[in-house]
Amino acid sequence: MSKLLDRFLSYVQFDTQSNPGFDTVPSTSKQFELAKFLRAELETLGLSDITLDDNCYLMARLPSNTDQPVTPIGFVAHMDTAFDYSGENVKPQIIKNYDGKDIALGTTLTLSPAEFPELDTCLGKTLITTDGTTLLGADNKAGIAEILTAIEYLMAHPEIKHGDICIGFTPDEEIGRGANHFDVEQFGAEFAYTIDGGPVGELQFENFNAAQAQITVHGKSVHPGHSKNKMVNAMLIAAEFIETMPKDETPATTDDYQGFFHLNNMDSSISETFMHWLIRDFDKDHQERRKTFIENRVEAFNEKYGAGTLTLEIKDNYRNMRERVEPRQEIITLAQKAMEASDVKPLIKPIRGGTDGARLSFKGLPCPNVFTGGYNFHGPYEFIALEDMEKAVEVIVNIARLAAG
Ligand SMILES: [Zn+2]
Repeated sequence: MSKLLDRFLSYVQFDTQSNPGFDTVPSTSKQFELAKFLRAELETLGLSDITLDDNCYLMARLPSNTDQPVTPIGFVAHMDTAFDYSGENVKPQIIKNYDGKDIALGTTLTLSPAEFPELDTCLGKTLITTDGTTLLGADNKAGIAEILTAIEYLMAHPEIKHGDICIGFTPDEEIGRGANHFDVEQFGAEFAYTIDGGPVGELQFENFNAAQAQITVHGKSVHPGHSKNKMVNAMLIAAEFIETMPKDETPATTDDYQGFFHLNNMDSSISETFMHWLIRDFDKDHQERRKTFIENRVEAFNEKYGAGTLTLEIKDNYRNMRERVEPRQEIITLAQKAMEASDVKPLIKPIRGGTDGARLSFKGLPCPNVFTGGYNFHGPYEFIALEDMEKAVEVIVNIARLAAG
């Protein structure tokens, strides 16, 4: 498994931060540097059908080693890191046989079990942390290292029978574009798993249904000294609108399977106030009811303040992949059995957000999400234990093995 650590440490040397401000594909061309490095590694491993396209999608295939017909399956990970925190010049610290104490991240930050009790699960393990100046990039370079280590293991153990194993590494996942140019047909798998989750055991196949409501309040600006019965202050109407929204259905008051309305952004003046609301629910019918609720609120305000005072535009953003994955229960069962065969207890949790796997599921590639072993993604407190990464490798090998019966 020393190769697993070497792989991971070599990938995090590449700064692959994506950027939502750029419309190019990939959003940042530096992602190609890692893609080319990985392509060379795929070639050295001797995989088939290796392609790196102009959009920075890297794909390859480990051919079946059995005469039996086996459904081709896939593993997907993303090459970019989050925009939230620098991924440049990552200098990981490796702490062998972790003793449970505070860990200094450089001179200013401390990774402490008091604040992050998950560290307790890493006692005695080999921990990989940041030096406090960057994120680590375990999200999702741990996933890439785990997939390739599993592939290498399968190639070294021809006695383990498996069908075609397709692998795909994508750019721009962190800015929600990882599925945009993913060619499902070329990929060749019937279903796949993103190896992009957190703690050991995590298995996710449900995410929010997501929509956004853009509401503009149109006011009337008149000099405040001469505005009696004339001024219409859009900000005050917006405030009244916000006041009528359910207070116990916000991100700060909900968890698990509860949905919410989230006032995400406002841009306000007397003559025009814009509100950007996020609407989230796991249940499709509830989500529709939430949209209707907003429509009715807007209508009521227009009755009170005059037609056209409020304008509304609702857009759907992504959907819960559950409806695409659940009819194929065997995809979930396979991952559960693979975890159990590795002594890992499956932790099935809904994703209170979106995932590229959801978009891929609706593009015809059902794609639940499996753990990498990492914690605290997107910032300097990110860490991962080598032993947990090894578990992910084992689970990937077991998925390949069990898929072949
Ligand atoms: Zn990720």
